[in-house]
Amino acid sequence: MSLELYVDGTWIASTSTERIDVVNPTTEERIGSVPAGAAEDVDMAVAAARRALGKWSQTAPHTRAEFVSRLADELERRQDDITDIVVSEVGTPRRVARWAQVGLGIVDLREAVTAAKHFPWEEPLRNSLIVREPVGVIGCITPWNYPLHQITAKIGAALVAGCTVVVKASEVAPFTAHALAEAVEAVGIPAGVFNMVHGYGPIVGEAIAVHPDIDMVSFTGSNSVGKRVLELAAGTVKRVSVELGGKSAAVLLDDLDVEEFAKAVPHTVRACYMNGGQSCNAQTRLLVPRSRLSEAEKLAAKAVAAYAPGDPTSGDTKLGPMVTAAQRERVLGYIRAGVKEGAKLVAGSVDAPARTGFFVEPTVFSEVDPDSTIAQEEIFGPVLSIIAYDTTEDAIEIANGTIFGIAGAVWSADPERAKSVARRLRATQIEVNGGKFNGAAPFGGFKQSGHGREGGAFGLEEFVEIKSLQL
Ligand code: NAD
Repeated sequence: MSLELYVDGTWIASTSTERIDVVNPTTEERIGSVPAGAAEDVDMAVAAARRALGKWSQTAPHTRAEFVSRLADELERRQDDITDIVVSEVGTPRRVARWAQVGLGIVDLREAVTAAKHFPWEEPLRNSLIVREPVGVIGCITPWNYPLHQITAKIGAALVAGCTVVVKASEVAPFTAHALAEAVEAVGIPAGVFNMVHGYGPIVGEAIAVHPDIDMVSFTGSNSVGKRVLELAAGTVKRVSVELGGKSAAVLLDDLDVEEFAKAVPHTVRACYMNGGQSCNAQTRLLVPRSRLSEAEKLAAKAVAAYAPGDPTSGDTKLGPMVTAAQRERVLGYIRAGVKEGAKLVAGSVDAPARTGFFVEPTVFSEVDPDSTIAQEEIFGPVLSIIAYDTTEDAIEIANGTIFGIAGAVWSADPERAKSVARRLRATQIEVNGGKFNGAAPFGGFKQSGHGREGGAFGLEEFVEIKSLQL
């Protein structure tokens, strides 16, 4: 019997004998399996988390932060091995996976540790003492696209805040979570503080959402499942944070010179195709002045040439496969919808490349109607839509004209003008003239991209209750 669930500081077997196969998307070969867990597994994990909560929540914040810091060090030591696991189960090109998949996971933990040092755990307010206390037991339900980072973004902050956690990783990419649990064990995080169960969403995920002894669910995934989790969690009035899908726009303003424009377009292609376009913050819509549409098409087509689909273990590859056969079919379905709705196919194909692996061609559409399917729905593949606009007001309206609001970008010759447009975009993380990622900055959704924030002190705030002692 395999011991594959990490509960109460030890490895145990699932109560279920059913298995879920895990497939390498590049080779299409089965690389192993994990238990299709049961609600009883969740019960055991929650009981362990609840038992551990009393002591952990009373441990000093700097001591909790010290454990999280050690976990970051341990992941750093294991970075190459974990990168290999991510590449084999997600198909992210290796050189991207090392920093964007595993590196980002380490950054999440380090930022939580830094935030703990300056966090206002207790502060006076007139005759009151304002006290921030852990929310309690947290159920973390996470997706496959960044299988380490999506967990560490939650647990770094939750553990530092004094919460205990039950993690249900994606059944599509569960081995990365397994490697994380091994690192947790290696650094001696007290038993029951971190627990991990495996299984399908409708069984194990739903058992978490309805569990009366879970105080909060932190969910990252699709909109349809996020809504389901919100509904189920309402039964016990538990707190829920949801990090959902996106359809982010890069807005190129009309004052860019030829050189700046030639920098912004390939930058957007890269921001769209990162991780095969399977990123919630992918910049999938490129908004350009109508007079510069053909210039944008030429530059995008040129940039796309560097993204020939290939083996993600090779150092040169920039575009790996889609994570599953179903995901490939979904992306191809959207490409066909784009053609059918009259968008101009500048690069890419409605057919998958004739080779093993769940690949699709890197695709660019132009003359895309902002209200069409490919401009409105999250595709989650390497598909960029170039959209022409007439005035800056139009550009802002188009950028804000979807149900989503997670990220975006603005480019202008005038940084102040770029910032003023960035302020008007209804989304959380906006790159201004290619501004760099900041792990301490808040990340999350406006509108139907969800609510709640992750990252640094903003992530920590999600996992505390605020109360006051009147003195
Ligand atoms: P998904 O919604 O299919 O699955 C996410 C998790 O929910 C998985 O662990 C899954 O097993 C579980 N789940 C499935 N059905 C469930 C149910 N009925 N009850 C409870 N849990 C259930 O999403 P996915 O395909 O793994 O990930 C892709 C999606 O995640 C995209 O929409 C993407 O935009 C989104 N995402 C968002 C962010 C963000 O920060 N906003 C980050 C990464 C991914």
